[in-house]
Amino acid sequence: MLSSLNADLHSHSTRSDGVLTPSALAERAKRNGVELWALTDHDEVSGIAEARAAAADLKMPFIAGVEVSVTWAGKTVHIVGLGIDENNADLKEGLRQTRSGRERRAHDIAAELEKAAGIRGAYEGAMQYVGNPDLISRSHFARFLVEKGVCKSVSDVFQHYLADGKPGFVAHRWAKLSDALGWIQQAGGVAVIAHPGRYDLSDVALTALMEEFKQLGGVAIETVTGSHTPDQYAQFHNIARRMQFDSSRGSDFHSPDDCEVDIGFLPALKPSATPVWHRWQQLL
Ligand code: AMP
Ligand code: MN
Ligand code: MN
Ligand code: MN
Repeated sequence: MLSSLNADLHSHSTRSDGVLTPSALAERAKRNGVELWALTDHDEVSGIAEARAAAADLKMPFIAGVEVSVTWAGKTVHIVGLGIDENNADLKEGLRQTRSGRERRAHDIAAELEKAAGIRGAYEGAMQYVGNPDLISRSHFARFLVEKGVCKSVSDVFQHYLADGKPGFVAHRWAKLSDALGWIQQAGGVAVIAHPGRYDLSDVALTALMEEFKQLGGVAIETVTGSHTPDQYAQFHNIARRMQFDSSRGSDFHSPDDCEVDIGFLPALKPSATPVWHRWQQLL
C-alpha cells in the first residue's frame, strides 16, 4: 500500500546544517530501508546532484528537495519544496537571496552571545562546523556551544541561548511565503509545510497560515515528522484530511549524534492519508 512506503522526504547534509555529506546520507538512508528519499537542505540545492547520483548507485528512488526559510506574520516558518528542478534560475536566485543575510546574522548572534552571556569567539567556533560557507546556521553555533561545555546538548543550547527571547537570538527576515511558493512552483515542484506542529503560532494563526498556503497553491503538510509527537501525528493527519492536503513524512535528520529520529525510522502514514508521493509513483 502506498501509504506504508518508507518515504523520508526531509533531511539535511553538510551543504546546510547536517553533518553527513549527501553521499553518506544516501548510504545511511538506504541502510535504514528508505524506499523514496529527498534531500532538503535549508535554502540550498548544491547537494542535489551528488545526492541524486549516490541514490542512483544505491538504486534508491530520489526526488530533489529544498527547505525554504520564510517569515510569515513575524514568525519563521519552513516550506519544503519537493520534486524541484534544482537548476531552475528563479529558484536559484530566490534561494541565493534567502541565504544572503545569514553571514551578517551570524556575526550578530556572536555579538549577542558575547554581550549577553559572556561567550567569546562564537563566530569562529561555529565556522569550524560549517560545511558550506554560504550557509551558516544556528545549528553550527549550537554544536560549538556543546563542544565548549556551555550546554550538554544541541537542544539545550536552543532552549537556553538561541531560541526567540534567549540571549543569543537575533531576529531575521527570511523569504515571503508567496515568493517561496512561487520559486518552488516555477521549478516544477510542490510545496509542503514543514513540521507544522513546531511553530509558535496560535491555532487561529496556524489555520490562517494553512489557508493562505493553500490559496498560493501549497499541496501538502508534514504529518509524520521527527519534530512531532505521536499526538501531533494524529492531529495533523486529521487537519490534512479536513483541509484536503496531501501528507508528507520525513525525519528532518541532521546528525547521528543528535537526532530525534534516525533517517527512515518513522511510523507509517495512516492508511486514510493521501501520501504526497502519489505524485512520483513512476519512480517507485
Ligand atoms: P537557522 O535556519 O539558522 O535559524 O537554524 C534553524 C535550525 O536550527 C533548524 O533547522 C534546526 O536544525 C535547528 N533547531 C532549531 N530549533 C531547534 C531545537 N529546539 N533543537 C535542536 N535544533 C533546533
Ligand atoms: Mn536544520
Ligand atoms: Mn525546519
Ligand atoms: Mn529541516
